[in-house]
Amino acid sequence: MSEADGLVRLRQPIGVTYNWSAGPNATSHLAGLMSGKFVGKRCPSCALVYFPPRNGVCPKCAKILAGDVEVGPKGTITTFCIVNVPFLGQKIKLPYVAAQILLDGADISMQHLIQECEAEDVRIGMRVEPVWKDKSEWGPSLENIQHFRPTGEPDRVMGSESGAS
Ligand SMILES: [Zn+2]
Repeated sequence: MSEADGLVRLRQPIGVTYNWSAGPNATSHLAGLMSGKFVGKRCPSCALVYFPPRNGVCPKCAKILAGDVEVGPKGTITTFCIVNVPFLGQKIKLPYVAAQILLDGADISMQHLIQECEAEDVRIGMRVEPVWKDKSEWGPSLENIQHFRPTGEPDRVMGSESGAS
């Protein structure tokens, strides 16, 4: 506390506890993560599968997303970034890779870490799988996954399959 300039300053940690209602789409997604599954939602019109199902409506057709669809657990890297810049609070050894991963059966990618390989070996099309944390650490979060790692399978050539566009 300082009153030298006529002002009273306090440094005090504060916390706010709140409840958040996830809604029907996020609930099945988060419940899936609590049981070690990736649950997305399918659009009843265009059949695109959204994982994570960020909102309840298909942005392409404006239809309300319908049934749950289990995707993954393996996926393919669609793009990535090698992080070399240190920052405050950093917990991961540099350099590391943040990648967009298209889980098998999903039509949009999610971001996660790639570990257990050298950053320079990561490439678009690389097949990866999740490494889950110990179940005692799980919550309703993608943070249940420690990281993704290469499967060793042949790369997937993106855009070579038929399917929803
Ligand atoms: Zn749609």
